Amino acid sequence: MGSEAAQKRLIVELANLRAEKSAREEFLEKYNLDAETADLSLAFYVDLAQSLFTRPSASSLKRLRQLLLPAGALDMLGIDWRRRRFSYQAHARLQGAFHYLLENSDLAKRCGNAACAKPYFFSKRRNARYCSDECFAAAQRATKREWWEEHGEEWRQSRR
Ligand SMILES: [Zn+2]
Repeated sequence: MGSEAAQKRLIVELANLRAEKSAREEFLEKYNLDAETADLSLAFYVDLAQSLFTRPSASSLKRLRQLLLPAGALDMLGIDWRRRRFSYQAHARLQGAFHYLLENSDLAKRCGNAACAKPYFFSKRRNARYCSDECFAAAQRATKREWWEEHGEEWRQSRR
């Protein structure tokens, strides 16, 4: 369901979705997700995505399993002989997006800059901690500021 690029875009946007009603309505319309979010609210999927991007609990993984492999949906699994595994055929957009997240979980990150506006992202490297150079620089400035707030006075006194 959708290309990998489209799945990636959807899951990143979902994780970063703001809480305002207008933002959520716009998102549902853009991806035509009204039917898919009829049973479980959009908030459920946002929470699940954020949890998976951060550090998934056992219960998040259980919810992911229920989403990707609902009861009686074995036809979603096929044989991918060359890649030595099961292939997965999503039946719905959100399933495709969450499946993309599963397959790229090593690169799914939460930005280390606490003030990042869109903190959930896929990095190019496994050990990346920031979504952008801007966030890296901002986090460094914040660390320096904290250091000064904590130790600045001592430092100034020690220089006298
Ligand atoms: Zn960031």
